[in-house]
Amino acid sequence: MDPLTSNNLILGVAAWVIAFVVVFWISLMIWAYRDIRSRLRDPLIRVLAVMIVALLFLPGLVIYLILRPQRTLEEEYQHTLEEEALLQSIEESPLCPGCGRRIRDAWMVCPNCHTRLRKPCHQCGKLMDIPWNLCPFCGTPAPGMRRENITMDEALRPLPVEQDLETELEPQSELLPEPESDPTPPAESDSE
Ligand SMILES: [Zn+2]
Ligand SMILES: [Zn+2]
Repeated sequence: MDPLTSNNLILGVAAWVIAFVVVFWISLMIWAYRDIRSRLRDPLIRVLAVMIVALLFLPGLVIYLILRPQRTLEEEYQHTLEEEALLQSIEESPLCPGCGRRIRDAWMVCPNCHTRLRKPCHQCGKLMDIPWNLCPFCGTPAPGMRRENITMDEALRPLPVEQDLETELEPQSELLPEPESDPTPPAESDSE
């Protein structure tokens, strides 16, 4: 191998290496520019970030990767959306009728003031609102409401239990005067 061809070979390899490094260097600057553009709106800091990579090359890239903002603008936007959604769900959560504190839908009793919030279905165990007389999940009437095909008039009437109590009380009040009349005949018999 004569010295001229070996020199040419070395020059060729050197030129190839230099060309590769230059292209790699330019690609790094382009990448840094695209990356900082997705993370920051400030044009001055964008230029500064590209300058660090341009002047310091690979160490500059390491410095840029350490100092760049953690989230991209898109991720930041998603993050604020999530925070807003979370805040909204907190604001929309119902309040305890007893103490006014925020409660969750799955709670049966308020842990703060012990107000009864919901009742479990005695058939399927799912929670239902206190005024409900029928489980919306399994269709079982709540205890005390076992009659089926109940009409609106029947539902509006006072409960049969209360009627029974009234009818039981009335005869007792009629019977009350009788014990007063009872003692008189024995008193008469005593006097005789
Ligand atoms: Zn409460
Ligand atoms: Zn049920």
